[in-house]
Amino acid sequence: MRIGILAVQGAFIEHRKKLESLGAECVELRKKSDLEHHLDGLVLPGGESTVQGMLLRELDIFQPLKQMIEQGTPVLATCAGLILIAKRLANDPHIYFGTLPVTVRRNAYGRQLGSFHTVQEMKHIGSVPMTFIRAPYIEETGEGVEILAEHEGKIVAVRYGVQFGLAFHPELDKDNRIHELFLNAC
Ligand code: GLN
Repeated sequence: MRIGILAVQGAFIEHRKKLESLGAECVELRKKSDLEHHLDGLVLPGGESTVQGMLLRELDIFQPLKQMIEQGTPVLATCAGLILIAKRLANDPHIYFGTLPVTVRRNAYGRQLGSFHTVQEMKHIGSVPMTFIRAPYIEETGEGVEILAEHEGKIVAVRYGVQFGLAFHPELDKDNRIHELFLNAC
């Protein structure tokens, strides 16, 4: 199993360590030729979505990645990654890949006080630790989107086919079950 991890900016190393500990081979994606490997899945990590969006275009990997997701390559998108795959942003005019039919609010918990840790129920898994860092949340879901977890009435995890969108950072906690769920989908 080979997973491509977008590695232009943000928290990609933690995803790599976790996936490798679960037996997956990882390729860091920074340039077009990195996409020549066969990839069974993609990880879009947290970071700063505006910076990532700009670098994706500058490095000429925006279109090929968009195409891979549209053609059904499983994707685990966390935090800024969720913003990149959202079809609509409530408080930002940008749309990036736009492959996940949800409306996402950026920096939804406030810029400064937006970082916290909680434990919530996640469908198919049970109680999982969740670390939020200047996180978005999901305001609205389109048809076919399964809500996996909520925090204080706000949607923080969804699945749409093989696209997983999370507002938090599962790579920063010891729990491996979200990455296992993703690898099973791959
Ligand atoms: N605030 C960031 C953004 O809007 C996301 C934060 C994160 O990925 N931890 O892109």
